Amino acid sequence: MSSLESAGIEAADLPVLGHYIDGKEVPGEGRSCDVFDPATGQVSKKVALADADSFERTVYSAQSAFPAWRHTPPQKRAQIMFRFKQLLEEHADEICQLITSEHGKVLDDARGELGRGIEVVEYACGISELLKGEFSKNAGPDIDSWSEFQPLGIVAGITPFNFPAMVPMWMFPLAIACGNTFILKPSERDPSPAILMAKLLSEAGLPDGVFNVLNGDKETVDLILNDERIQAVSFVGSTPIAESIYQKGTDAGKRVQALGGAKNHAVIMPDADVDNAVSALMGAAYGSCGERCMAISVAVCVGEEVADKVVTRLENRIKELKVGPGTDTSNDMGPLITKEALQRIHSYIEQGLEQGAELVVDGRNLLVSGYENGFFVGGCLFDEVTAGMSIYTDEIFGPVLCIVRVKDLDEAMMLINRHEYGNGTCVFTRDGETARYFTDNIQVGMVGVNVALPVPVASQSFGGWKRSLFGDLYVYGPDAVRFYTRRKTMTQRWPASNKTEKAKFSFPAS
Ligand code: NAD
Repeated sequence: MSSLESAGIEAADLPVLGHYIDGKEVPGEGRSCDVFDPATGQVSKKVALADADSFERTVYSAQSAFPAWRHTPPQKRAQIMFRFKQLLEEHADEICQLITSEHGKVLDDARGELGRGIEVVEYACGISELLKGEFSKNAGPDIDSWSEFQPLGIVAGITPFNFPAMVPMWMFPLAIACGNTFILKPSERDPSPAILMAKLLSEAGLPDGVFNVLNGDKETVDLILNDERIQAVSFVGSTPIAESIYQKGTDAGKRVQALGGAKNHAVIMPDADVDNAVSALMGAAYGSCGERCMAISVAVCVGEEVADKVVTRLENRIKELKVGPGTDTSNDMGPLITKEALQRIHSYIEQGLEQGAELVVDGRNLLVSGYENGFFVGGCLFDEVTAGMSIYTDEIFGPVLCIVRVKDLDEAMMLINRHEYGNGTCVFTRDGETARYFTDNIQVGMVGVNVALPVPVASQSFGGWKRSLFGDLYVYGPDAVRFYTRRKTMTQRWPASNKTEKAKFSFPAS
């Protein structure tokens, strides 16, 4: 019996979420897929998967809106962003309820996600300042030269399930503030917050067609990548897909930034404040059920004494974790996103055991009363993990923390620098020299010192190194302004009208 039948719901009765094209919600036609409530394990709605017709309407709408939007003064675009920010705050409860009902994360965590997205909108409100060009007076005799930053045209964003409001907001506020039109292809697992944000943008005064949401899957993504009218693609998701999107998109002549997966290490030095480090590790490893690209999934303990202390304290704290539906804000952790994700975590735990790691806390047999079909797993802790094990090499994307024991800082850093991912990392220490050496030499894009989740603020930019990012520019912050614009440089001279000039055949020098 399917989960639908057991709940007495006919598949045909379920609402189908469509798209948002040209300032209107548009029903989807043709293919669709299920959206689950991860806490109950039930299908709650369906979402349309765009076909070529819906795609064509979306591109037409974005293309038609571009000429007027790119000529709209940046200050006017900023005013719309101000109103959008206010509307996001007014509708915060509704947005967070949607996030929790489709993603599963605890409501407070959804509020944190929304807050970080709003910070990017606030940064985009300063677009007039950010787009100011550069001017060189007297670049040559009577010659002035300046650069300006023009929008690209239609830009697409393809986003993952784990931050259905924040990651889209890493992209579209700055893309549209820079004068582009935008097509968002959100994750098909939790598509509703994107549609709500599109409605709020319209309410804020954004002209029709500037922001569109096209729901879909790989087929939709391929349409985006193959269409020459789309100038640039921002992608966030897993590394194999990021790599393929970067290759296909750049082969098709597009500008692409593709952020991928992660395996983030925290180093705990012998001089660290162990209690505070353990508190920070708890939030960073088990918050959002470990489904964060900046989650700490490896704790590298320097010296046996620190390792023993960290493991004992973590063990006690993990056993106290409150796991249940995200709507109950007393819970620390909600469910995983899908049944497949749950099976994947179970499979990694078996692999860890087979490969010789010590399972200190096993979260597999957790039952949440009243939510027996939900996709729940408890916090898991492995000790004695080594670099060759799949639980160490692979991104598990669940609440599984691995302890690796090393003898000194250099061994810890060598481990991190050799890992294929380089998204985030941190060191817990009280020593400035250690912190400086670590931040200077670690091969990772975002680094914390006594900060377990060093997610850059909106005025910086976010991105990883190695196979955590394909492309040159990070998302949001100053890098996003560069990514979503093209530099144009003018050189101008107004010679005196009464002066006859001779032809010069040497290359002009100033
Ligand atoms: P995913 O790669 O499965 O999906 C991401 C997007 O790509 C979705 O919109 C999906 O519809 C689309 N997609 C899926 N398969 C595709 C295919 N074969 N071809 C084209 N498009 C495809 O990722 P996910 O499971 O939704 O999200 C989790 C992953 O995202 C994790 O690996 C996590 O580390 C990563 N992530 C990275 C960052 C970062 O900043 N580096 C941030 C958030 C999430």
